[in-house]
Amino acid sequence: MTVQYNPEQKIPHPALWGVLYRSSTPFWEAAKQRELKLQRCKGCGTFLNPPRPMCPKCHSMELEWVPSKGKGKVYSWVTYHESPHPAFKAPYAVVLVELEEGPRLVSNMTEVRPEEIYIGMPVQVVFEDVEKDLILPKFRKAG
Ligand code: ZN
Repeated sequence: MTVQYNPEQKIPHPALWGVLYRSSTPFWEAAKQRELKLQRCKGCGTFLNPPRPMCPKCHSMELEWVPSKGKGKVYSWVTYHESPHPAFKAPYAVVLVELEEGPRLVSNMTEVRPEEIYIGMPVQVVFEDVEKDLILPKFRKAG
């Protein structure tokens, strides 16, 4: 998808640049309802992320979307000191959260400064209204 830059217009958040509506549609529709859902294989019970048409473990194409507890821990993170887009206010952290169900999810932290983040930090999902029709699952420190 080509993104036309027009300095007269407000630049849409990068999450709206056409990646939302593929096999991940149920994920984003759930996020609009402030729910975190994961794709799960009906054949072997494996949770999948990113979403895909076939289970990589047992090759079943019988997949379903189920609620996640939204709990996990920081698997890794990186701090951006310069913003690549006006939607991101530096400094900010991009975290890779390992959910209790197993999959890892790329997101951002809220209510915590980047220098406070550590590997293994327990986190809980929260939902942030980014702009109209865009609610993103992010994470805060748990407990
Ligand atoms: Zn499977």
